Amino acid sequence: MAYATINPATGETLKKFDTATDQEIKDAVQRSAKEYSSWRNVPVAERAQLMHKMAELYRERQDELAAILTEEMGKPAAQAAGEVQIVAAIYDYYADNAEEFMKGRSLTPSTGGEARVVLDSTGVLLGIMPWNFPYYQVARFAAPNVMLGNTILLKHAGNVPQSALVQEELFHEAGFPEDVYINVFASSDQIAEIIIPDPAVQGVSLTGSERAGASVAATAGKNLKKVVLELGGSDPFIVLDDKNVERTVKQAVNGRMNNNGQACTNAKRFIVLEDAYETFVENFAEAVQGITPSDPTDEKTFLGPLSTVSARDEIMEQVQDAVDKGATVLAGGKKLDKPGAWMEATLLADVTPEMRAYAEEIFGPVAVVYKVKDVDEAIELANSSSFGLGGSVFGADEAEALEVAKRVDSGMVFVNEVTGTAPDLPFGGVKRSGVGRELGPFGIEEFANKKLLHTP
Ligand code: NAP
Repeated sequence: MAYATINPATGETLKKFDTATDQEIKDAVQRSAKEYSSWRNVPVAERAQLMHKMAELYRERQDELAAILTEEMGKPAAQAAGEVQIVAAIYDYYADNAEEFMKGRSLTPSTGGEARVVLDSTGVLLGIMPWNFPYYQVARFAAPNVMLGNTILLKHAGNVPQSALVQEELFHEAGFPEDVYINVFASSDQIAEIIIPDPAVQGVSLTGSERAGASVAATAGKNLKKVVLELGGSDPFIVLDDKNVERTVKQAVNGRMNNNGQACTNAKRFIVLEDAYETFVENFAEAVQGITPSDPTDEKTFLGPLSTVSARDEIMEQVQDAVDKGATVLAGGKKLDKPGAWMEATLLADVTPEMRAYAEEIFGPVAVVYKVKDVDEAIELANSSSFGLGGSVFGADEAEALEVAKRVDSGMVFVNEVTGTAPDLPFGGVKRSGVGRELGPFGIEEFANKKLLHTP
């Protein structure tokens, strides 16, 4: 596993970083454990002050922080600025609310006396994060846990080392003690053999692919460590009618192409009732065809390159497999003939179960549209996926759309808007999309000791 910044817009390698030695990893675990013994005793109000400072730093340094994302993983500039803003809001949210959440709740014991369950810290935690939202994924995990009194070892994705390092720097600049948050350029072997088995480490939170999730969860299971897994998704976008088609198509384009099509909660499968199909598809195809992949440093750019050339090639293989087996390309479908990880925004129809595009997550700017005869068939198709992360239902009758939303087997379903995120809303999935929840009051509970205090 190498750590390097390779600009996906140009293919140019800009910086390389060494993977840590085993001794460096062992030292990092020890430092984190030592810091935990004092950090857990720092008053929550003091922790909150530092965390507000973090939020302030993200706002102050927004342009520079956003530019790192664009350079390392190709996120269009305006969206990179948006990521920095939501991250600042997450740090503020936990700074404002952690103390209240940690008070927990009182119970009325049937055996008499008084009981209260409070949230307490547990120890050192390992975070393993992906490259697609390099700051946001870290904030979802680090903000609640640092407020709780846990300390963090953070292993980031190999292609975003500068995003990884700047986050450690921000913790220091905000005034947190040196080892509350430690970035580790660790290998998979070091994670499995040194970090997770260490008795000081109490849990692992991984956001990423099913493959990585299964591997890390297996090691955690063997060592009896708690996991939170935020994995892939193939979110359905159900269209019930063709009223408001303009609004629905606008949401469809944003929902699928946001972050260059590389969000776990991008709308990926567009399931349209037959009466609305023709109008929706005609408008959607035109809109997708109208997207021009462009320089991600330009504020006006909507679609940039993919994160890496290999990620782009993998998606092109999924598209080619579908085309070879009879799918119809309604827009795009080709890679761009220039250096870097470029491809066209793409819309596929006539995708059938024997094609990879039917069941696999497509982690790039490729939408797949399906025609169904009624709501029951829409739900059956939506729920046939092995994933269950987000989803959305569009319909002129909001109450009807809400009833349909209730039948979708996933962790988050939105009516008349695409799956979104906010600091106070829980985020997470069911089935192969993962285990646990981040954000909101739920996010601080995952690695907390829900401690019972009982008095006569
Ligand atoms: P990935 O390959 O699984 O990488 C994610 C992280 O796991 C990276 O830091 C990676 O390090 C590390 N990793 C991979 N294999 C590992 C192992 N065996 N042991 C320890 N660490 C390991 O994920 P990706 O393909 O880059 O990211 C995209 C996936 O993430 C998609 O499936 C997407 O849907 C999912 N995702 C989910 C959410 C959510 O909240 N549910 C959010 C965003 C993304 P290296 O880079 O060094 O390999």
